Amino acid sequence: MTPLNQLTQEAQSLAVTSDSTPHPSPTVHDAACNGTATTLGLLTDNEAEVDRILQICNACRYCEGFCAVFPAMTRRLEFGKADINYLSNLCHNCGDCLHACQYAPPHEFAVNVPQAMAKVRAQTYTDYAWPPALGVLYKKMG
Ligand code: SF4
Ligand code: SF4
Repeated sequence: MTPLNQLTQEAQSLAVTSDSTPHPSPTVHDAACNGTATTLGLLTDNEAEVDRILQICNACRYCEGFCAVFPAMTRRLEFGKADINYLSNLCHNCGDCLHACQYAPPHEFAVNVPQAMAKVRAQTYTDYAWPPALGVLYKKMG
């Protein structure tokens, strides 16, 4: 078993849910599979990457004092779509955790919290815009 699998398994063993519902597969896409809004709760590729990283961070917890993301993260034992969207919007992309991280690339864990969260954040700007036409406009104008 690789160190990443072992660490991820340890992190997941902490994620005991009240109803033991399995976490949606990170490889399952939403219906459109193209970053459009979904109410299904399934994770996009970008959200699955944040989920993977948060499992590692939740086991590590070195960055707990860096920003609001880490204390909010450690209050959760598993990360659904809404949690990932919320936590990604708490990140202000300062980069402190990346520079401090012993698991950042080129380490095989490839933990890059700001990059992973920025991708999800950009998606949420489109998904949660109101009226929805503004989200489409934002996506086009980027
Ligand atoms: S960013 Fe790296 S050092 Fe910080 S909590 Fe996550 S895994 Fe640990
Ligand atoms: S990059 Fe984001 S998650 Fe990392 S310390 Fe800065 S605000 Fe927190």
